[in-house]
Amino acid sequence: MTRWHDFIEKDGRPPAWPYPIHYDKEQEIDTDVLIIGGGIAGCWAAISAARKGVRVTLVEKGDTVRSGAGGPGCDHWCNAPANPLSNVDPDEWAQHMTEPPYSNGIGTQIQCREDWDTLLEMEQMGGKIRDTKDEYVGAKGRDEKTKLMISPRYTKVHSYIPGMQKPVTLKSNPEGKLNNVVIRVWGSTFKPVLKRECKRLGVKIFDRVMVTSLLTEKGVQGARVIGATGFNNRTGEFMVFKSKAAVLATAGDWSLFLMNTELAGYNFFRSRTTTGDGAAMAWRAGAALTVMERNGVLMLGTGFKHTWYGGAGDASYENVPIVDANGKRLPWPTQGWEDAGAMRPTPENMEKIIKGIQSGEYALPFYGDFPGMPEVERRATWKLMLGEESTTRNITESYEKGGFDPAKHLLQNYSFIEGNSPAQWRTAGGGGPVVDWDLKSTLDGLYVAGEQTFSAGDHSYAAATGRYAGRKAADYSQQVGKAEISKDQVTLEKARIYAPVRRTDGIDWKELHAGIARAMQYFCSEYKTEHLLKMGLDALKEIEEVFVPRLYVLDPHKLMRGIEDLSLLAHGQAIINASLARKASSRMLNFLRIDYPKVDPPDWHKFVTVQMENNKVKVGEMPLDYWGDMKANYEARNKDYAGVYQGK
Ligand SMILES: Cc1cc2nc3c(=O)[nH]c(=O)nc-3n(C[C@H](O)[C@H](O)[C@H](O)COP(=O)(O)OP(=O)(O)OC[C@H]3O[C@@H](n4cnc5c(N)ncnc54)[C@H](O)[C@@H]3O)c2cc1C
Repeated sequence: MTRWHDFIEKDGRPPAWPYPIHYDKEQEIDTDVLIIGGGIAGCWAAISAARKGVRVTLVEKGDTVRSGAGGPGCDHWCNAPANPLSNVDPDEWAQHMTEPPYSNGIGTQIQCREDWDTLLEMEQMGGKIRDTKDEYVGAKGRDEKTKLMISPRYTKVHSYIPGMQKPVTLKSNPEGKLNNVVIRVWGSTFKPVLKRECKRLGVKIFDRVMVTSLLTEKGVQGARVIGATGFNNRTGEFMVFKSKAAVLATAGDWSLFLMNTELAGYNFFRSRTTTGDGAAMAWRAGAALTVMERNGVLMLGTGFKHTWYGGAGDASYENVPIVDANGKRLPWPTQGWEDAGAMRPTPENMEKIIKGIQSGEYALPFYGDFPGMPEVERRATWKLMLGEESTTRNITESYEKGGFDPAKHLLQNYSFIEGNSPAQWRTAGGGGPVVDWDLKSTLDGLYVAGEQTFSAGDHSYAAATGRYAGRKAADYSQQVGKAEISKDQVTLEKARIYAPVRRTDGIDWKELHAGIARAMQYFCSEYKTEHLLKMGLDALKEIEEVFVPRLYVLDPHKLMRGIEDLSLLAHGQAIINASLARKASSRMLNFLRIDYPKVDPPDWHKFVTVQMENNKVKVGEMPLDYWGDMKANYEARNKDYAGVYQGK
């Protein structure tokens, strides 16, 4: 492998940009349905739209074959209550999953109804979802007849409201059998299969193209979305996409509050390419956004802490028994399969563990006792769960190369010895465009799927909502005519995108990113006040007016990074505006206002929305159950849907 150092040593300078640069070129693409982001949701949206016989174009910033958080894999297919081994009713499960306020009832209902169908379709396309080679015979949760492998996650359920995490009995499961709603899958097979199916169905894929803006009818903010712009992050070529409907599937934003390229190789857990572009585009185009004020402490993958999944006790190690430094078992997981799904010890057990550390009953550090597990369970966790989940495979393979053998060695756990992340390192996740029962945003022609939706779920949620949004967008595209693109809107966007290319000096994308992150840390952190938030808006405005005009880039890749910064900036502005609009604290939103200390007062039990109208921020609100009766509304709008589970 050639290292950066080798280039400098050999030529005395960094390597030349390896692709031809065409900032002056422009390509126009005409399509019926445009998919923005080729991750899990985007690929599924493209496939289901293409199955409806319309022309589909998918645009992806990386390479669709492995891009996005789900590109490397997935081991838990969550919330599939319609699977044949499930012991719960899908509609009741959907209700249960949306018990915490500020959930997304529409996305969750779709997931619970269609997740199993989605997985079966994945199998038809060539993805592996069963233990067909009998590698895990004897493992808990494995069903010999179907060869499905139920995961230990959510086998028993608790209330999700903080402080009320008590076991819950569902009407559809009165005897309290294991719920069996999460399936272990061989997710590393999925993404290549999705790309192949897109190609087979004739989806036009544009890899390495960053979408930068939505085009609206007559260029008016709030009008119907009729296309998008982008540029190739290798050649710099400008792209104009004309569409009848678009699906926004660019996921969230994991680096708004923290900039760290050195320690973590830029890993903030989710994909590096998810930088709030979709939220920023939707915001500028005039879509209403909600739950933007929610943000939490960034616990994962900052590089200042152990790599998430690098230590026993993290998510997919959920059924690995934890022992103390003397080999004494801890109540974590609670000594068995049934509570393993809770991932972390219950609050009562956590208290016992902390007291035990203080009294000397438990000695630090703790370890995952792989050798103490039955052989087949150990293999299922190490090879199937960690091996298939995602970038986790890099971890298990590196450990093995370094001599680690789970049959012989304990794996260290980092809880209690590394401390928490500082409160100002936050996730910007949680918010997104308001959607209706078609997963349509408040803008005609714009649909939303996956982690781009507010209060989203994970991989299977992204798959099911992508599949759903794709078919709804295709239906819409068959009902509407084409609209003329506004040339002025394109010209303005082009000027915005290429301004940094024309400068040869100034500040680069890393400095800009660091400045934006610092402003967010100072003014939109754990404790908020009107004054601080307004200072935050001023700081971002100053960055926009003084520093953005100094941004310069050397090549199309850095241009992408620079334009991502502009998305971060707009995303930060939307978040601060939403934070100003919520004049109450909220535990569920992880939102603390010093000037409004009442926690979740009844008159603030509502969604706050923010949107741009004539370039001014407009604040609105919606009831917490604005989607109405989830079962009835889902069924009313999906009479033509032929899935395995169609309700009772
Ligand atoms: C290590 C790890 C393990 C995980 N394990 C599981 C698991 O076992 N089970 C589970 O359910 N979930 C899991 N998840 C979460 C799961 O991967 C995500 O929920 C899922 O990938 C979300 O899908 P998405 O399509 O919304 O986003 P992504 O899959 O991240 O896709 C978003 C795509 O949009 C593209 N994009 C972004 N901006 C632009 C732009 N401007 N223009 C064009 N393209 C753009 C990105 O490149 C990316 O490909 C895991 C995540 C990680 C990181």
